[in-house]
Amino acid sequence: MKLKVITSNPGKVAEYQKAFDELGIEMEHYKLPYDEVQTSDLREVVNKGMDEIIAKGVRNFIVDDTGLFIDALKGFPGVWSAYAQKTIGNKGILKLMEGVEDRGAEFRCCIGCDIDGKRIVVVGVCRGYITDSEKGTDGFGFDPIFSPDGKLTFAEMSVDEKNLISHRGNAVRLLIEQLKG
Ligand code: IMP
Repeated sequence: MKLKVITSNPGKVAEYQKAFDELGIEMEHYKLPYDEVQTSDLREVVNKGMDEIIAKGVRNFIVDDTGLFIDALKGFPGVWSAYAQKTIGNKGILKLMEGVEDRGAEFRCCIGCDIDGKRIVVVGVCRGYITDSEKGTDGFGFDPIFSPDGKLTFAEMSVDEKNLISHRGNAVRLLIEQLKG
């Protein structure tokens, strides 16, 4: 079986393909722009996006809305993560965190899956730390400035290593549990 991953981000597709290999499900990178409603709730963004995609006649797909929530910045950039990444980028986030002792942060990944006419929405979380500088060349987005254990950043890990502990990996495991059920 094939699932479309509706995203403009090839990094996400690679992570999904690795995670779904065990079920023999093939991921197809599918580019279809949809509105991301401005709300502080990732689930609402995903549910509204799914309604719009289904209304366009597309079925059997995955959408993913992810945010990086930094404790000392009261959850910023959170649902504005894509905008923050495009504007101030990782260097801007590190600047905001200069001299800040509390480096705690978490990624939250909300996955919406439309499969055989059924809708499953799950959220996976990964807690960690914002590093002092960018480290590593793999991954994408905030990966070079986020470390789950205070040692390596996601950008210093392989896709398999990241999937084992990441927000997306945790969300996929919840999704697979429901798919098997
Ligand atoms: P979106 O879910 O694609 O809207 O992602 C929001 C922002 O978070 C984008 O700038 C992504 O690059 C970034 N992002 C999403 N997932 C990850 C991840 O797993 N690691 C690092 N950055 C991510």
